Amino acid sequence: MDYKDYITVVQDYPQDGVRFKDITTLMQDGDVYKKAIEEMAAFANDHDIDVVVGPEARGFVVGCPIAYSLGKGFVPVRKKGKLPRETVDADYGLEYGKDTLSIHKDAIKPGQKVLITDDLLATGGTIKATVNLVEQLGGQVAGLAFLIELLYLDGRKDLGNFDIFSLMTYD
Ligand code: 5GP
Repeated sequence: MDYKDYITVVQDYPQDGVRFKDITTLMQDGDVYKKAIEEMAAFANDHDIDVVVGPEARGFVVGCPIAYSLGKGFVPVRKKGKLPRETVDADYGLEYGKDTLSIHKDAIKPGQKVLITDDLLATGGTIKATVNLVEQLGGQVAGLAFLIELLYLDGRKDLGNFDIFSLMTYD
């Protein structure tokens, strides 16, 4: 089975020249979605993590089932203004724009080993800001896991020396 058969590439979305990788067609297939999550969870398990962190919204689609399958907690990272209690914040540059991400200040205890996960690594801006938030709270980033990595955007180069797992890559 090739996971890429379940990804729909949408030309010129959300803007001209972008070949958007639509993961909803993978999620629609229960067997494939489950297998994908299990592979990401196995990576997390190898790194002996305490907690899973994922940025909204598609980071929840992978992060919550990984956390659930390992019996670990899940911590959401959200756009600024969406979390109800005290947060720490980090600015980030997106493939298409700029924004600020937030995490609850008490969400991670110093020294906890964290898996950071999202559906897709593009330029790395979202994940770099998420790493920044985890580290502001004293968490130790044990690994990064993605369904998809866009190699042509070289998001890894700014991320530091983390162990990175990608289920699929696109050249
Ligand atoms: P980055 O910050 O690495 O440039 O962009 C990654 C973020 O943008 C992820 O949160 C991801 O959900 C979203 N993203 C960017 N491009 C795509 C794409 O082609 N497909 C999907 N599913 N998400 C994308």
